[in-house]
Amino acid sequence: MANMCLDYTTISDFLICRQKYYLRHRLNLVPKQTATALTFGGAWHKTMESVWTEKGKGEETLIKEYGKVEVPLGDKRTLELGKKVLENYLKEKGYNGHEFYPNMEVIGSEVSHCKEFDGVRYCGRMDKVVRWDGSIYVVEHKTASQLGFTFFLQFELNHQIDGYIYLCADKYGECAGVLVDAVLIAKTKFNAMRDTPTRMPGHAERFEAELVDIARNIRWANDNESYPKNKSLCQYYGECPYRDLCLYHGDKRVIEARYKKSVWDAKMGKEVVG
Ligand code: SF4
Repeated sequence: MANMCLDYTTISDFLICRQKYYLRHRLNLVPKQTATALTFGGAWHKTMESVWTEKGKGEETLIKEYGKVEVPLGDKRTLELGKKVLENYLKEKGYNGHEFYPNMEVIGSEVSHCKEFDGVRYCGRMDKVVRWDGSIYVVEHKTASQLGFTFFLQFELNHQIDGYIYLCADKYGECAGVLVDAVLIAKTKFNAMRDTPTRMPGHAERFEAELVDIARNIRWANDNESYPKNKSLCQYYGECPYRDLCLYHGDKRVIEARYKKSVWDAKMGKEVVG
């Protein structure tokens, strides 16, 4: 299993739909136009970086990251809405000068870490790492268009959370869980909620066994050029960005008009060429 480097994004794409994995990670294709939800989510992460590390002013960061984005008519994710969500987050529920979490200290932000097991290198980038009441937690910021207690059920069996706890425990020697810090993005309602999914003892061993199994499946798919479409998940989390490509059977004109080349680096957890 030598020379395989994986991260949550790559694994998630593969498990959702092998065709999606092929288009994104083998052909390196991405839509020319980034979905507003993704751009807004990225800007919110940067804003949280400013707020939680106290290295900048939240609103200034939001304006810098999102102020020039052209939001399609009717899309709720406007800059004005973002500002109101931030104001509410800071006022009522937010990490505001250590008031909300009096015994919390940020010990790392945008923490990248990799661990190798059985020839598979697993990498991830954690939004924050904090010491909270003497224990270490990863912090993950989320934006959601529906937010209630059921929102957090998805993190109980969740590869992203599994990976964070695995990597954090390896880097810091312990990890009590992940603080999922979520805000609602809706036109008229404001809400912010948090939960801290944890994992059972023996998590690392189970994660590694699963990782090696997934890596074996990816290797097999690549060796055999087998990337079946999973049409049951084309509308998973909104519309799959490759819907047009699949709909028009990979027509070259569709690729040229709507997609561009961009390489995802699993080790760095970001686009490196695009
Ligand atoms: S549109 Fe559907 S079949 Fe095509 S890559 Fe996306 S999830 Fe897979």
